[in-house]
Amino acid sequence: MKVVLENLTKIFPSRNKKSNEEVVAVSDFTFTIPDGKLIGLLGPSGCGKSTTLYMISGLQKPTSGKIYFGDDDVTELSTENRGVGLVFQNYALYPHMTVKQNILFPLQNLKGADKLSKEEMLEKAYNAAKLVQLDELMDRKPSELSGGQQQRVAIARALVKMPRVLLLDEPLSNLDARLRLQTREEIRRIQRETGITTIFVTHDQEEAMSISDMIVVMKLGVVQQTGAPQDVYDDPTNLFVAKFLGTPPINVFDGSVKDGKLYIGKDAVMDVPGVANQDVTVGIRPEGFILDENGPLHCKLSSVEVLGRDVSIVSTNAASVNPIIRSIINADNKVDPTRETVSYSLKPHKVFVFNKETEERIHFEVK
Ligand code: ADP
Ligand code: MG
Repeated sequence: MKVVLENLTKIFPSRNKKSNEEVVAVSDFTFTIPDGKLIGLLGPSGCGKSTTLYMISGLQKPTSGKIYFGDDDVTELSTENRGVGLVFQNYALYPHMTVKQNILFPLQNLKGADKLSKEEMLEKAYNAAKLVQLDELMDRKPSELSGGQQQRVAIARALVKMPRVLLLDEPLSNLDARLRLQTREEIRRIQRETGITTIFVTHDQEEAMSISDMIVVMKLGVVQQTGAPQDVYDDPTNLFVAKFLGTPPINVFDGSVKDGKLYIGKDAVMDVPGVANQDVTVGIRPEGFILDENGPLHCKLSSVEVLGRDVSIVSTNAASVNPIIRSIINADNKVDPTRETVSYSLKPHKVFVFNKETEERIHFEVK
């Protein structure tokens, strides 16, 4: 089911009685989610992810704008009539019910023509349980399950009616690191198997990048960029997006452009043809550094961390915005950790230049 968001906006009245300042939680969000895809809705806490999801689900009414499922305008439709499956961070299972009863629950409220026989309900519940690999545990209570299993019950419950759209709000946040990895692969598999259009909300960029067909990066209620995870990583539209994606994060420097050359401090590090003379902000991905005795960027060496396949070199430079610069170099390159300085040349497609005031990207031709 294709989902279309059209100028979707949500403004909350002020919570503070003294001030009248409204909160624009979501501003003019226009986007088409293609049928059968998994979309990662990504951004820091408070940027409007949950509010967007709640509007798609019908739990919250937009202040303005429209929502379509396929060609149906669902903006005014109640949650029950939208055909959405919802999964939240806290599994929200009924503690006194078994796994089976929890999964059956949404089917028992169906009325009229949708009403199912007991056998039909059980069949659907077992099919959903199989999908999340819980069919062996149907008689357990939630308290007898691990966090990951509880979340899978919640996913099965959301899937049992075969929703048109599956909405997941930070579903992995309560799981420990290992389960988080495992469950996110599980969600990807289930999404592929069912082909249900899925929106996955997270503040964790790695999580979103790893399982999404497309990501939407939000900041303060405003969509910054949408695209395939790799495309957004490789071609960020502004400094915020560049900083938000990537571990280790991008290295940020104060720089300047003079006569077609990019300077970091006094070092002319790269050609940036066609860019006007100005002060700029420079972002360099950790993998964008090449160890090079004769390289143009000179840094003070702090430490060398061996990671196996790669080495992580920690260095400093007066023009660096952050206390340290982290570069990731192939471990075949030997670095003497007792050295005082280290020099780099740069991979041009891993270097991004931003307008100092607007923080928008300044493009140049990469040779
Ligand atoms: P996220 O899920 O990205 O963390 P939310 O969508 O929950 O962000 O919130 C977006 C903004 O809207 C925040 O500033 C939040 O404080 C505000 N907000 C959310 N719900 C309400 C509400 N019911 N009343 C007032 N403000 C709200
Ligand atoms: Mg939220």
